[in-house]
Amino acid sequence: MQYISTRNNKLSVSSSFAIASGISPEGGLYVPEQLPKVDAKWISNLCEKEYPERAEQVLSLFLTDFTKSEIKNAVNAAYTGGVFEEDWAAPISDLSDGRFVLELWHGPTCAFKDMALQLLPHLMSYASKRALDGKQILILVATSGDTGKAALEGFCDVDGIKIAVFYPNNGVSEMQRLQMATQQGENVAVYAIEGNFDNAQTNVKKIFTDAGIIEKLKEKNTVLSSANSINWGRLVPQIVYYFSAYADLLACECIKPGEKINFVVPTGNFGNILAGYYAKKMGLPVNKLICASNDNNVLTEFMNDGVYNAKREFFTTISPSMDIVISSNLERLLFELCGRDCEKVSGFMKSLSDERVYKIDAEMKAALDADFWGGYVDEKTCKEMIKKSLSDIGYLCDTHTAVALGVYENYKSETGDQTATVIVSTASPFKFSGSVLDAIGVEVPAEEFDAVKALEEATGLEAPESLANIKNKKVRFDKVIDPADMPAEIVAFA
Ligand SMILES: *Cc1c(COP(=O)(O)O)cnc(C)c1O
Repeated sequence: MQYISTRNNKLSVSSSFAIASGISPEGGLYVPEQLPKVDAKWISNLCEKEYPERAEQVLSLFLTDFTKSEIKNAVNAAYTGGVFEEDWAAPISDLSDGRFVLELWHGPTCAFKDMALQLLPHLMSYASKRALDGKQILILVATSGDTGKAALEGFCDVDGIKIAVFYPNNGVSEMQRLQMATQQGENVAVYAIEGNFDNAQTNVKKIFTDAGIIEKLKEKNTVLSSANSINWGRLVPQIVYYFSAYADLLACECIKPGEKINFVVPTGNFGNILAGYYAKKMGLPVNKLICASNDNNVLTEFMNDGVYNAKREFFTTISPSMDIVISSNLERLLFELCGRDCEKVSGFMKSLSDERVYKIDAEMKAALDADFWGGYVDEKTCKEMIKKSLSDIGYLCDTHTAVALGVYENYKSETGDQTATVIVSTASPFKFSGSVLDAIGVEVPAEEFDAVKALEEATGLEAPESLANIKNKKVRFDKVIDPADMPAEIVAFA
């Protein structure tokens, strides 16, 4: 299977090249030239398989220039051997009332980014040997908090790869900051930037297409790549858990073969929910993909009106991984909605960058409505949902998952839809201990690790070891830079 760009369908590259290089030279995103299709039997066959084998099945449909043993080695390295708690990467459980929760945060950094970022470094190592003949890779990451740590952890001391992470100063939770600032490894660099996530992301994207920087890096035998969800290698591992969740529901006879289900996804950069959309287009029986946002509700407006308007106030919320105004992966959805017309997509993206707004036509809007429903909840409702979930059903969730729970309530009361629904849970509640404590009405200690302890005491649950351990680690990175200085820092680090 070859890959084309959302802004240039004459381009055709291998999956290795798409993953090793991250983004297409003209700024577009790589997508498969067509989506593979699976049938009911293929899906039901997943039921008896362990998670890594399910991943192998899905990956082999997309990464056709990887050998079978490369894929097998990569998924085993990512998902076995205690990388994930209980050695099951994506457990699902019943939340009552036709709701199920898919927990994607049992990996080393306690957020769903581990699902892809434990696998991507292995894929990238194979891919770069094949597609880039041994050049050094420098990975640039813009993060709203969770991607940065998950990428640092995944790429730490991987041969032939360096990684630089940029996060918004004062825009991430204290735990997220500490996780990144204490990162080990000889090949890593971490910078806070003055600005918000969109400033970080826009500047990183600019660097990818800056001929001057590319030339300077070439002198150092280095090429740039991305570990953000603009990289196809981030998306394909995420498709796996939509199929896996469905297989688990089939296996427990919670649903019948062929029965459609909904997914509610706390959304920021549109990477997670886009993987669900691809799963649906491949043949997974999905009714609606419910896109949940916080006060940064640009996607809710887009789903309702077909207008993407980035001219809006930016809010820093207690669900910081969703504090995003420009959702990069929406470009891949637009590409599908308009019948894969790259001229049209280029037009939308130009309009977004020049006027900060674009509008899709009625035909595209109808295609959007067929698969998606969008909603948002404010900070108060988010906190109420945490409290309510704990007191009503004894389930403690983080702030992002609480947004999904709240939006689902609104969806259900507006539509009356009774379809079985999977709430996608994206982070451990202990990663946002302060906000969660506040939500359940317990006084929040000033020091982050006291808050973790207080949450353990208030709930009787145990914090993941990887979070508790950070307390004993030294801060290695505390540099705050101007976004304008990002290119110079990158060239120096390379
Ligand atoms: C990254 C992240 C999200 C948003 O996911 P996208 O793929 O960017 O839409 C939601 N919740 C948490 C906890 C995250 O880390």
